[in-house]
Amino acid sequence: MFEKKEISDLVNKLLETNGMSTMPLIDLDLLLKSEGIKLFKFSKSEWKDKNFPDASAILLKSGNEKIIIINEQAHKLEEDKIFTIAHEIGHFFLHTTEEKPYVLCRHGQSGDKEKEDEADYFAACLLMPEKIFKELVNKVEIPSVKVFAKIFGVSETTTRKRFSELNIFCVD
Ligand SMILES: [Zn+2]
Repeated sequence: MFEKKEISDLVNKLLETNGMSTMPLIDLDLLLKSEGIKLFKFSKSEWKDKNFPDASAILLKSGNEKIIIINEQAHKLEEDKIFTIAHEIGHFFLHTTEEKPYVLCRHGQSGDKEKEDEADYFAACLLMPEKIFKELVNKVEIPSVKVFAKIFGVSETTTRKRFSELNIFCVD
């Protein structure tokens, strides 16, 4: 189990290492590349794992290979896909081990809620870094969820949650 501070420190370090600590919209493709993670998006017919039709993504670590597979069908919007990718990157850093080199993510019904919450928090820190988020908050009179969601390329639900995590008042 991780403290929130540990997760956000880890993300900040990752952003710094990749020269992304000043950008509001981080380049996920670049980050995946520099971390050696391969991303695949499977369509309905490609998503062969019939045992888990409702899974949103799978990640695997095998030797030096790191792979994220997104179930396209489980994501209606591009911003949801982006969040899932960031969430899976979180699992890589937080939860994959030699003994358990894979994670299967399912919406709504997760076997390990704590780990799913941690990966969600990692994703929020990655896509809406606290420092940049607060800098922008200071530039406006009353921050709006809609505007911030657009700026950071994430859903309004995710943005609203971030405001609440950071104890910042906002309007819709
Ligand atoms: Zn997950």
